[in-house]
Amino acid sequence: MLSVLSLGKSYAGESTVEAVKDVSLDLEQGQSLAIVGRSGSGKSTLLAMIGGISRPTSGQVLIDEVDQWKLDDTARADLRNKKLGFVFQFASLLPTLRAVDNVALPCLISGTLSAREAYARAHALLDRVGLSHRYDAFPGQLSGGEQRRVAIARALVNSPKLLLADEPTADLDEATEAEILNLLIDIHKALQVTLVVVTHNPEIAERADHVIEMRGGETVSKTERSSSEVVSQAIDIVREIYDVSPEKAAVEKVRLGEGLERFVGRFVMWVVPVVIIAWCLNWAVADYERSEIEAKAQRRMALEELAMQGLRADLKSVEFGPGKTYIVTIYLRNTKGDEPLYVMSPLVRGFVQVGTSWLEVPMKSLESASAQVLKVSGTQMLRYEMEPDVPEFTQLLPYYMHVRFTNDMLISPRSQPKDDLVERNDSYYVYLKPHDADDKAILSKMKFPGKPPVWVPMPPH
Ligand code: ADP
Ligand code: MG
Repeated sequence: MLSVLSLGKSYAGESTVEAVKDVSLDLEQGQSLAIVGRSGSGKSTLLAMIGGISRPTSGQVLIDEVDQWKLDDTARADLRNKKLGFVFQFASLLPTLRAVDNVALPCLISGTLSAREAYARAHALLDRVGLSHRYDAFPGQLSGGEQRRVAIARALVNSPKLLLADEPTADLDEATEAEILNLLIDIHKALQVTLVVVTHNPEIAERADHVIEMRGGETVSKTERSSSEVVSQAIDIVREIYDVSPEKAAVEKVRLGEGLERFVGRFVMWVVPVVIIAWCLNWAVADYERSEIEAKAQRRMALEELAMQGLRADLKSVEFGPGKTYIVTIYLRNTKGDEPLYVMSPLVRGFVQVGTSWLEVPMKSLESASAQVLKVSGTQMLRYEMEPDVPEFTQLLPYYMHVRFTNDMLISPRSQPKDDLVERNDSYYVYLKPHDADDKAILSKMKFPGKPPVWVPMPPH
């Protein structure tokens, strides 16, 4: 999968520094390599050449048989995006984006997946690295170890075949370091992604399939653990247990003693009918209970499907209102059409991003207060007046506020529900132009077909 052939790099200067000299190595798909050695021994330079970041002065780097330094810049960037994942010395997360945005970002940039799929994958990866409860946290709210987990998830989002990590735990305490390095190795094994890691940690070097030690740009020792032998041994063991040939089965046929057969015959005559009757009774009861439970579960599923698929809810528009207000319109549409849906008091709230947190801003419904239970048959508009007075908002898009609306609804097919009520929580994200923003200044930074819009919707995430 990875072949490095006589790779070398020298830096020209007052005196030429040979950072890496004549290094060769081979890795198969799914194997791991630990690179150890003192500071200045050339580890980072080697990794950067493998990763297509720093051009070698001699030698080749083949990834899946393709010499990556023979490719032009665009093709190499493409290969890097599609096949490689990087975890650097420091977590290097973008501080104004949430954990899940940071993970999804490489995917959104490369356009390999739709935004929806990218976010689904980002969630799954955060689950895999043990951060399922921290999707929405900003990097500043996470511990060093947690930030590193996010960085690992981000490195994996484009499903790389080769993961490169350069002292990924340099700034962490000992316990966290061990935890993160073990996570890295576990993930490499579970996902069969090839791993090259530069580390000082001897235990990790112990867990890797190959270890090379570098000194003065050269590899001074190589250790290869015969992991392929272990694998083939495992396959042999599995084959021994499960691969039963017919001849072998015939030989193994079990014979009961002769006298025993008559006794067994009588025993069977009495015991078998009793067991069968008891079993039938038992089965009938269990079946009844099971069908009750199944019916209940099916009703629940139908209900949830109705709440998720039968009702479409989204932001329709955001307009400038009087003074410093905005008029926010949300629509609810019954897509099943034939039967009405009831939505109990939807609670819509607005938040503006300030630094790394969300500041709730006043939001008031413009509908008549009496409508506590909404009957939705066709399309229903809900209007709100929002008045954000937030001087120091975060600008992910120049001049614009980053706004999140949450819409919490209880949905039922009946106006007076009992157990047929499902909760649904939606979020909509938009960029919102402040009332006092200067359109000319905005247009000098960003391109819009006409006037800069009041709001720019973002994909659901
Ligand atoms: P390691 O990661 O093992 O600490 P590096 O690969 O960073 O080692 O560095 C190897 C050698 O190359 C060092 O002597 C370093 O000073 C030198 N080196 C690294 N980068 C450069 C550069 N951009 N210009 C000149 N010398 C460099
Ligand atoms: Mg280094």
